[in-house]
Amino acid sequence: MSGKVQFRPHHFLCALGFQGKGYSHGFTANMAGIVDRLRAPGGDAVEIEVTFQADHICAPCPHRRGTSCENAGKISALDARHAAALGLHDGERLTWGAAQARIVAAVPEGALAQLCAGCQWHELGLCARALSDLHARR
Ligand code: SF4
Repeated sequence: MSGKVQFRPHHFLCALGFQGKGYSHGFTANMAGIVDRLRAPGGDAVEIEVTFQADHICAPCPHRRGTSCENAGKISALDARHAAALGLHDGERLTWGAAQARIVAAVPEGALAQLCAGCQWHELGLCARALSDLHARR
């Protein structure tokens, strides 16, 4: 995929921590393609548009229901917490570089336990490690 990427609020941190885990082969392959773009040289310049509906990561998810999700309550709560923490608004556009700067400024190490409560991937520790690495780099 080229051009602008759409992310719902909690997917900024998910993209930071992604290490190949997902809900299905199709979901994981699609997310890997998006994350590879962000992590490639020049990836910090990729433009991301914020949406509060199903986004480009959700597109092939087996739990997606149209523009919503079969776990809409849990996912909306995740989005609300991440949007508040990162100051994200519907339709806002920012680069991946700006998003990472915002994460560093607004999400201290150890914050994911509260921010990501209910996410099945949290206990793996991969996202916390990625957050820690980002803080160390910046
Ligand atoms: S713990 Fe879950 S919601 Fe939080 S960044 Fe990781 S994958 Fe995303």
